[in-house]
Amino acid sequence: MTPEQVLDYPFAAPPAPGELAEVAPGVHWLRMPLPFALDHINLWLLEDGEGFVIVDCGVGMDATRVLWERIFAGRIGTRPVRRILATHCHPDHAGNAGWLAGRFGATLLMSQAEYLTAHAWRDGAAGYTDASLLAFYRLHGLDDERIEALRERGNRYRVLVPELPGTYRRIVDGEVLAIGGRAWRVVTGYGHAPEHVSLYCESLGVFVSGDMLLPRISSHVGVTAVAPDDDPVGLFLGSLARFADLLPAGTLVLPSHGLPFRGAQERIAQLQDHHALRLAEIEEACGEPRSAAELLAVTFRRRLDTHQVFLALGEVIAHLNHLTARGRVSRTAGEGGVMRFARA
Ligand SMILES: [Zn+2]
Repeated sequence: MTPEQVLDYPFAAPPAPGELAEVAPGVHWLRMPLPFALDHINLWLLEDGEGFVIVDCGVGMDATRVLWERIFAGRIGTRPVRRILATHCHPDHAGNAGWLAGRFGATLLMSQAEYLTAHAWRDGAAGYTDASLLAFYRLHGLDDERIEALRERGNRYRVLVPELPGTYRRIVDGEVLAIGGRAWRVVTGYGHAPEHVSLYCESLGVFVSGDMLLPRISSHVGVTAVAPDDDPVGLFLGSLARFADLLPAGTLVLPSHGLPFRGAQERIAQLQDHHALRLAEIEEACGEPRSAAELLAVTFRRRLDTHQVFLALGEVIAHLNHLTARGRVSRTAGEGGVMRFARA
């Protein structure tokens, strides 16, 4: 069955650009454009006394800031924003964190790994350089033409996250934030980003899932050059199992992409199946030693643009690392220094 047949979507359509929609008492939904194939992100405003807490920020581009200004000109214009929470460091979530914090004199709340990763990525520190990425993808067999396309694209992070606060308030797993007289629990998740934060309000039955639980697409789970032996698939599946234990049936899930939905348990089961299927497909294709780039064609049958190649190759490596960690495939550096994987 498709997600549409299993999940319940209580809101048929997103709010119009620059508008708010209340999805639970004191919880407002807004939508911002994104300059990618994935063309939108959902952001949330949580009423907090006379003000609001902003959850996620949109990319740091004019099209998003114009819409923020429209929202500020409306009902939140005169109301204070003292806290901004970014679920994780990706540009669509953290892009305007610096701009919004500066505008309101607000504190940025983030997990430590997300905050430090955002700075490292902006600054091209550690393995967050173009050279590291290109070397990593070359090791995994990406051809010269697509390596060149990635080089030309360069580090887009700085463009989409033009500024970041120099200080923040660290939030940790299990911490309870008091927002608008309600308890919102910080729930960290792994595999999509270093230390992603979701928020759970038991009294409202609302889970702000960020990018960790999406209704229609599977969250990106990829290996990056800075941690080449990571097993994000294992981490992601571990987080889904924790969410399954946490969330009662009937919980309203507020995802960063797609529509709010009920049916968290069903969606978690679908995602577990999705990864099991992909792992089986890749393992099956490793009868002969294969590079990750060769396996791209197995898992992504359509033609991919440069941004999609960047994401998709990271995903294939993630599944290969998981199979390696479980002893299902073994890897060897073969011809031309390219890493190849074969069934153990
Ligand atoms: Zn993300």
